[in-house]
Amino acid sequence: MGWRGLGAATALLLAAAAGAAQDYPPVKARIEPVKVTARAWYVQGQPGMANAANEAYNSNAGFVVTDDGVVVIDALGSPALGNELLKAIRRITPQPVRRVIVTHYHADHFYGLGPFRNAGAEIWAHRGALDYLTGGEAQRRRAQRAVDLYPWVDADTPLVHADRWLDGDASFTLGGVRFDIHHFGPAHSPEDLVVVLPQEGVLFSGDMLFTGRIPFVGEADSKAWLARIGRLIELKPRLMVTGHGAVSSAPGRDLALTRDYLAFLRVEMGRAVADFVPFEEAYRRTDWSRYAGLPAFEAANRVNAYGTYLLMERELLGK
Ligand SMILES: [Zn+2]
Repeated sequence: MGWRGLGAATALLLAAAAGAAQDYPPVKARIEPVKVTARAWYVQGQPGMANAANEAYNSNAGFVVTDDGVVVIDALGSPALGNELLKAIRRITPQPVRRVIVTHYHADHFYGLGPFRNAGAEIWAHRGALDYLTGGEAQRRRAQRAVDLYPWVDADTPLVHADRWLDGDASFTLGGVRFDIHHFGPAHSPEDLVVVLPQEGVLFSGDMLFTGRIPFVGEADSKAWLARIGRLIELKPRLMVTGHGAVSSAPGRDLALTRDYLAFLRVEMGRAVADFVPFEEAYRRTDWSRYAGLPAFEAANRVNAYGTYLLMERELLGK
C-alpha cells in the first residue's frame, strides 16, 4: 500500500470513528425486552408494515444472555432502533454483545446492524443473502426506504455485511448455552436461518413464521416454504419467537396461520393461472374475508397474491 492508500485508510478509520459516535434521531418507541426463558429475551415490534409513524419498528429481535457475553438474533429496522436495542441489552447485563445472527437480510431485520458492529459484535448470516446485497437490489430497496422511512432510514444507512457467511447449518456453545443454527432457505428468503436453544426450549424463527398478521410473501418460493414449515414443527419447540408478532407458546397452532395462508394463495392463484384468468380478475374474484381483518392485509396481500400468481405460472411452465 502506498502513501495514498494509507491516506485513504486513515480517512476511512476517521469516518468509522465518526460513525461510532454519531447521533441517531430520537426514538419515541419503547424497546422493552421481554424475558421468555432463563436466558432468552425478545423485543416485539408494532403490528403492520414499517412506516414513518411507527419509526420502522415493526419487527422483533431476540437476545440471549450467556455466562460469556450476549448473542443477538436480528437487529431491527434502522440504525437508531439497533442502537436502542443495544442500550436495552446494556440495562439488563454489563456483558458485551459477542455475536449477532441475522435470520435474513430483509430491511426490517438488518438495518440496525451498524451499532452492533461498532460495539465489536461479530455478525453471522447465511451466504444466500449475498446475491441480494451485491446485485443492486439492496441498494434500490434502501433508496425506496430512505423516502418512505426518513429520517429513520436515509441514503447513508449502512448495508452491513456479515463477518462470517455460513454455508449451511452451524452450532456453537457460548458461556454454557448451546446454539443450533439451521438453514431453512429458500423459503421466506434464500438465506433464512432458524436459531434453536435446546436447553432453553426456545426457537427463533425469523420470518419463517408470522404470528397475528399477514406474512410478507412477495416473491418467496411458497412451495419450499410450506415444506419447511413441516420441519419447524418437527423441531418441537416449547416456545417460538417469531420475526413479527408475540412470542408463541403454542407453535403448532401459530404455524397453522402461515401455512394455511400460503396454501390458500397457491390454490386460488394456481387455479386462476390454470384457467388463464388474468391476475386483476382473479384477485377481485377471490374471497379474502378470512384474512382481510388481520394486520398488514392492506399493505401486503395484493403483493403476496401477485408474487404467488407469477410463481404459479412458472411452476405450471416447469421453470
Ligand atoms: Zn422478512
